Amino acid sequence: MNNLLRIAIQKSGRLNEDSLKLIKECGVKFNNGTGKLKSTATNFPLEFLFLRDDDIPGYVADGVADIGIVGENVSVEKEKHVLITKRLGFSKCRLSLAIPKAKAYQGPGDFQGVSVATSYPKILSNYFKEKNIVADIHEISGSVEIAPSIGLADAICDIVSSGSTLLSNGLKEVEVIFNSEAVLIEYPDLAPAKQEILQQLLFRMKAVQAGKNNRYILLNAPNDNLDKIVAVLPGMKSPTILPLAMSGWSSVHSVVNEDAFWEVIEQLKNLGAQGILVVPIEKMIL
Ligand code: ATP
Ligand code: ZN
Repeated sequence: MNNLLRIAIQKSGRLNEDSLKLIKECGVKFNNGTGKLKSTATNFPLEFLFLRDDDIPGYVADGVADIGIVGENVSVEKEKHVLITKRLGFSKCRLSLAIPKAKAYQGPGDFQGVSVATSYPKILSNYFKEKNIVADIHEISGSVEIAPSIGLADAICDIVSSGSTLLSNGLKEVEVIFNSEAVLIEYPDLAPAKQEILQQLLFRMKAVQAGKNNRYILLNAPNDNLDKIVAVLPGMKSPTILPLAMSGWSSVHSVVNEDAFWEVIEQLKNLGAQGILVVPIEKMIL
């Protein structure tokens, strides 16, 4: 066995671009000429397999690929023996039940005895089992949303992102049964040498993600309020404080998490901060 870590990526589709972008942001260089099934990185021990997303969990469970990037929906539906190593934060979507727009809806109990078309029979039957509902699940592989209008089923269970496809097919979303995002999956019995490469890649992915979730912030603070301003800006260790040429003022530099961002800005303004600059962070090593 050579010491290359093999990663399975969707060949084309909604996951392809963001998966490759993440790997590029990790500093890995490669050539993914269109139509290629395989490629090797030029500056990192990583080999790519480009596959249909549905096949990725199986390839990883069998160890043909060491790791892979798929939607969590696909990973769960396939019920293959793989580890979910990391949630990747892109390709967010939900799996929902939808019924014809004109139908009244009271709750999940309405699905008792109803026929439902879906490409996710396992996730759906688990959901119905949990709710003690017996329904008739029809597995179809695509164009699920037209099933009610052609008389194939009373309802559907499908991926929804904006809901516009449902609306244009005369359907309304009534229950979200699964929230999904892209995940990194892993062969459960990876050899130590490959595990080491994976850890290097994960270290880089974490730095990229932390960078995306944080902003570098610079501001001018009146010295009288410096303590209070520093208290709302925890930073990585603590903020940097530099004196300004104008007496009574300092420049404060720190890192702010995106989730808390606007709240922090509001507090800083109220404490007299001026000239606030916010800069994106490419990578952040914690
Ligand atoms: P393949 O040809 O590889 O089988 P596919 O047609 O099955 O591709 P895509 O439509 O490319 O799959 O979707 C891949 C994954 O992207 C889905 O399994 C889901 O996790 C996620 N996804 C699907 N629809 C959306 C959406 N509208 N917005 C965001 N993510 C989505
Ligand atoms: Zn697919």
